[in-house]
Amino acid sequence: MISRKDKIVQELTGGIAMLFKQNGIDWLQGEGQLLADMQVKITALDGAESVVSAGNVIIATGSVPIALSATPLEGNIVVDSAGALDWESIPGSVCVIGAGVIGLELGSVWRRMGTEVVLLEAQDTFLPMVDGAIAKEAKRAFEKQGLKILLSTRVMGSTVKKGKVVVSYQDAEGEHEQTFDKLIVAVGRRAFTDSVCASEVDVQQDERGLFHVNEHCETNVPHVYAIGDVVRGPMLAHKGSEEGVMVAERIAGEHASINYDVMPNVIYTHPEVAWVGKTEEQIKSEGIDFQVGSFPFAASGRAKAKGDTTGMVKIIRDKSNDRILGAHIIGPSASELLAQCVLAMEFDGTVEDIAHTIHAHPTLSEAVHEAALAADGRAIHIGNRKRK
Ligand code: NAD
Repeated sequence: MISRKDKIVQELTGGIAMLFKQNGIDWLQGEGQLLADMQVKITALDGAESVVSAGNVIIATGSVPIALSATPLEGNIVVDSAGALDWESIPGSVCVIGAGVIGLELGSVWRRMGTEVVLLEAQDTFLPMVDGAIAKEAKRAFEKQGLKILLSTRVMGSTVKKGKVVVSYQDAEGEHEQTFDKLIVAVGRRAFTDSVCASEVDVQQDERGLFHVNEHCETNVPHVYAIGDVVRGPMLAHKGSEEGVMVAERIAGEHASINYDVMPNVIYTHPEVAWVGKTEEQIKSEGIDFQVGSFPFAASGRAKAKGDTTGMVKIIRDKSNDRILGAHIIGPSASELLAQCVLAMEFDGTVEDIAHTIHAHPTLSEAVHEAALAADGRAIHIGNRKRK
């Protein structure tokens, strides 16, 4: 499994080098640092230094996992997200600090391989950024698979002893100590901006190291842009790459922009969790008059045929104009199903537009169709609440 993963990663990254060649892009290998007057210093791997000058500079140095001083990384026993993808045998037990996106994705991978997995989460709410009903369903599904999720838990420290790791943590019941084969630290990522700019260049950053940018990813220094994990917004690959395209187009004199309100989010567990737009909790707090339509995969013929019926589609409409405020999916191929909701929102479509659209039978996408119908009390394959 690991060597297959390595081969695919190698093919994909090798593919990028080939695309550079085909598109006439020079790849200067080394560490870059922005100097004054749009000069960039490049320190090659062998230490040789050179300076190039640029008309425009795009900073896209990404992020690195946040380290916890109480649980320092150690060999292949206490690892971050990268280390947890390189184990060559299946551990008997794994502790994960942080039940966020990475903790759940990695925890659920190893759980499905038979590993005993315990997630220690500091917050008292599970997946607070996810719609409440979907997060509740996700927790139920993951716990049914055997993931042990401990909320409101404070990690005190870890010690590696005889090839295993002893983790101490505190919850409402007191202090605990438990021994695991491995420990994954997945408590978030931080922008990697440490030495990207020389001291004489004043590109403004906040206290977390993020570069201040406007909606077009322009920093305070003319012709210097920053994109992706080093600027505000979610740390998502597709967000970073769309920002890169926007900046490139703007440098080329086009009028590109990004619709940050329509940003797909996916947690790649099984079942997958995917969403776009606002959660029901956000909509309520904003005082918007809304209606919800939900459809469970248990009522989908295709999901039944696949033997994969956990989860649901939930669509929230603005009652005043039928616009889609949010779409939330947990279930089979949620990441792929979400795309039709993203497209509808990008086209400024309505829930009625999805309801009008013919969806092939039998497909999982019918669940999105039915959820749209349900928002107005017109679902076909589940009972409806009374229409108002
Ligand atoms: P995260 O912010 O999603 O989750 C980190 C979790 O750790 C939070 O729930 C936080 O409350 C908890 N935490 C922090 N300190 C803790 C402590 N001391 N003890 C216990 N719990 C603690 O971060 P992540 O999962 O590490 O992911 C990092 C970034 O990468 C995120 O922005 C994420 O969106 C992004 N990412 C996204 C995807 C995806 O979209 N599928 C995949 C990988 C990473």
